[in-house]
Amino acid sequence: MKKARFDKSFTQQEAIPQQGIDAAVKLLQTGRLHRYNTVTGETAAAALLEKAFAEYMGQRYCLACTSGGYALHVALRAAGLKRGEKVLSNAFTLAPVPGAIDNAGGKPLLVEIDDSYCVDLDHLETQMQQSGARFFMLSHMRGHIADMDAVSELCERYGVILIEDCAHTMGARWNGRRSGSFGRVACFSTQTYKHMNSGEGGLLTTDDDDIIARAIIYSGSYMLYERHGTLPPPERFAEVRLQTPNYSGRMDNLRATLLLAQLPGLENNCRRWNERYQALETRLASCPQIQLPQRPPAESYVGSSLQFRIEALNADQVGAFIAGCAVRGVELKWFGGAEPHGFTSRYDSWRYIEEQQHLPHTLAILATTFDLRIPLTFSVEDMDTIGDIIVDEACAALG
Ligand SMILES: *Cc1c(COP(=O)(O)O)cnc(C)c1O
Repeated sequence: MKKARFDKSFTQQEAIPQQGIDAAVKLLQTGRLHRYNTVTGETAAAALLEKAFAEYMGQRYCLACTSGGYALHVALRAAGLKRGEKVLSNAFTLAPVPGAIDNAGGKPLLVEIDDSYCVDLDHLETQMQQSGARFFMLSHMRGHIADMDAVSELCERYGVILIEDCAHTMGARWNGRRSGSFGRVACFSTQTYKHMNSGEGGLLTTDDDDIIARAIIYSGSYMLYERHGTLPPPERFAEVRLQTPNYSGRMDNLRATLLLAQLPGLENNCRRWNERYQALETRLASCPQIQLPQRPPAESYVGSSLQFRIEALNADQVGAFIAGCAVRGVELKWFGGAEPHGFTSRYDSWRYIEEQQHLPHTLAILATTFDLRIPLTFSVEDMDTIGDIIVDEACAALG
């Protein structure tokens, strides 16, 4: 029997909605792409986006900037990080997170993850006690949301400021509350592979007057900060405007225009991702050798990717399994590799971190963790095909 093959691309996103394309063309015709380049009576798209996204999040303030990584670094600065201070972060994340900590002058101090890919709360408490760190940058990596009530309680008990990396949880909730509304600041990415697509882009949200004032000035607002979409009381700027350096990282109106057209469809897209996630999950669950994450009822996730483990595979079999899937068009990422590959890297490849740590539990989990993207260009039926190929190849690799 001929083996089924899958032939769509795992990196193909949907087109920008037609309204967004039309609005972008209109903007291009004006030439006013810079966020402060407006005519009398006009509000820049970047400012409109800030207002709309803050409303969506139920937060008072939003800053639109150049990337998720930029937002993370500015969040730390604006929250008062001093050079050389330690910043806690879960070890299963993407390179821009430790990179943002380093860029802000901090020193990453990594925390173990648990079997469900979330930060290990016991290790988090130990690290908080032993390090005295004032900041915790929690990355909701691949959309897995830790028990946010417990995380918030620990942060409160140890006086730690929580900053959320919501690159994979835009649209998700914990106990009905939006991911990104638990921390002092939250950061989102609108890079092509995330939940809204402007090529590159970042959004920072907060309820804190001082943090938003500083973040706006950092982003390179010159003395035009009053043109932002969400503003703290004016005296907050008076205090910081000459004390805060310009780290040029503004979002332009073209990207903001594309995002404004996508925001109204975000909730529906989250539902579409979950339909696909759940179809694949059901297929994979038919194979007893595949371990799927148990997702707590409090977590309303956005299934834009799926992770699973096959703990029975040894190192050679892992290679055979990935190759077997690849030949049949199913592109799996593996977080167990000693060498960084594409977008994927393990914490021990971030060699610039001075205090190299050994996190045995995280390594053990990642050794047999596979990861795949679920772009919305895949149909629900596609997920059955992909699921069948994975189950087939897992059985073949296990022999
Ligand atoms: C993409 C991503 C970021 C950073 O976003 P950029 O916009 O690419 O800078 C941060 N954290 C995680 C987990 C990401 O996947």
